Amino acid sequence: MEVLSLGSSGPNVKLIQSLLNRIGYNAGPIDGIFGTQMRSAVIAFQRNNGLVPDGVVGPATGNVFERLLLGYDTYTIRSGDTLFKIARKYYTTLNAIMTANPGINPGALSVGQRIIVPYGIDIVFTDIDYTYEIIQRQIQGLRVRYPFLEVGSAGNSVMGKNLYTIRLGRGSNQVSYNASHHAQEWITTPLLMKFVENVAKAYSVGGSIRGYSIPQIWSRSSLYVIPMVNPDGVNMVTYWPNYPNDTYRQAALLNTTGQPLPSVWKANIRGTDLNLNYPAEWEKEHDLEIEQGITGPAPRDYGGPYPLSEPETQGMVNFTKQHNFRLVIAYHTQGGVIYYQFENLQPPESTTIAQLFSRVSGYTIATNPGEASYAGYKDWFIQDFRRPGFTIEVGTGANPVPISQFPTIYDQNEEILLLGTLV
Ligand SMILES: [Zn+2]
Repeated sequence: MEVLSLGSSGPNVKLIQSLLNRIGYNAGPIDGIFGTQMRSAVIAFQRNNGLVPDGVVGPATGNVFERLLLGYDTYTIRSGDTLFKIARKYYTTLNAIMTANPGINPGALSVGQRIIVPYGIDIVFTDIDYTYEIIQRQIQGLRVRYPFLEVGSAGNSVMGKNLYTIRLGRGSNQVSYNASHHAQEWITTPLLMKFVENVAKAYSVGGSIRGYSIPQIWSRSSLYVIPMVNPDGVNMVTYWPNYPNDTYRQAALLNTTGQPLPSVWKANIRGTDLNLNYPAEWEKEHDLEIEQGITGPAPRDYGGPYPLSEPETQGMVNFTKQHNFRLVIAYHTQGGVIYYQFENLQPPESTTIAQLFSRVSGYTIATNPGEASYAGYKDWFIQDFRRPGFTIEVGTGANPVPISQFPTIYDQNEEILLLGTLV
């Protein structure tokens, strides 16, 4: 993390504001601007943690924040320690410690033994802007807190970022959910990340969510979550305007629309709209673009020079082909709509499942074939596999959908996310 001080702004300021508020230091509203109230909160935190109280988040203070954001500490057992005592000291639970240390025997701790101690807070924050670095840290923390999560990568972005995959469950019924094909639609990333955290937590205690037994889902299904398909694009929207970076600066020159980046940028970093780059009637899509005068890289709506021209779409196609997905959901924003068709190639059960998703979310089902769109991920999945594929559009108003809508969006979609693993 860069050094943050009075006057700094951006997603990492929001992240630290959210963290400080969460752990009992009043940093004020999460507005992404490092003001005097945040400075006072940082100074109070530094005083309580034996740090130089200069009100600047430099390397030393930054390291302490990093550990809290990762959500765990490494603790060396001392004489007289019990897991219960350690849990109390860290405001966490015995179960959380047992989960993070598979095979640990609480009755046979040895002095000098090193164990993982998760802090007693959730690490997927839902009141901040998201960047690639934020989910990277969260994924690292979640896999330590919940060692039964399997983390992998579907490939890389143009700039070399991982297209992270997280597997929940061990069953034979494979399904996959993805988010943030479109940069400005990044609120879909915390939607899936929060679901991952909630399911992992419920699984660690053998619990249920909305009456769905998580251990049952776990043994029946394997859910592969790809929380950020377009990490370069997301950072372009949420990170770059605040921090200098030449690649982003070059890409920003493609924005000749006169509109600010956050409200206009959907593409990857080379100006290809990833959800128009799949080999599913790509040529028809290309013709539509030419009719609209879109002939090259742009912040949105350019489907690339040829199908699968981008490493992100190549990664998604390879990952999908390496599995046997019975159903996929691609999350986007705007309008509360469920899309389930492509050229009438979808199986009949897609209609039934769309109706089920609509019932539990309150979202409408898009049935108008006149709204033709091509070359999207779900289009390609339906075309090549003839299995249920969905695009679900969350949120209302203008893009990017503000994070203040997160609680509503999560509430509307949680049962879809549970049902998708079982239908
Ligand atoms: Zn979209």
